Amino acid sequence: MDKKVADLMNDQINKEFYSAYLYLDFSSYYADEGLDGFANWYKIQAQEERDHALLFMEYLQNNGVSVTLEAIAKPDVELKAHIDPLKEAFKHEQYVTSLINTIYDAAAEVKDYRSMQFLDWFVKEQGEEEKTADDLVKKYELFGSDAKGLYALNEEMNARTYTAPSLTLD
Ligand code: MG
Repeated sequence: MDKKVADLMNDQINKEFYSAYLYLDFSSYYADEGLDGFANWYKIQAQEERDHALLFMEYLQNNGVSVTLEAIAKPDVELKAHIDPLKEAFKHEQYVTSLINTIYDAAAEVKDYRSMQFLDWFVKEQGEEEKTADDLVKKYELFGSDAKGLYALNEEMNARTYTAPSLTLD
């Protein structure tokens, strides 16, 4: 495998674990605030990010690349209002999309079609992640300032359950 593509994917393992860490921080913030549904939603989101990290890890291993795990950074966001994690999550997903695109560019440059096909799943996934994150910001802006609206939104987010990623590697 091309070294640059492999290195970027190895970095992405760390970034995905950081995403999981960031979303666990959001979950913890909402738990402190008594919004158990929001806390549940981000705890599940963190599980998805961990799954993404494991997919990159498995892909590299399947292609004979030795994985190096680095330290995970401390979540660096200040959360003051209930809408803050929602806005930060949208910003963060846009950033993750840019990272996936950078890996895709590197794979395309060396005609690494196998990696491009693997990354296609993440390109689609990021489209969904950005939309979901943006929808949550919009929903909060519409209903979050009203106590009944916030209660309903919290209940809706409490209903989220974990599902394994649709991508599996063998
Ligand atoms: Mg991810």
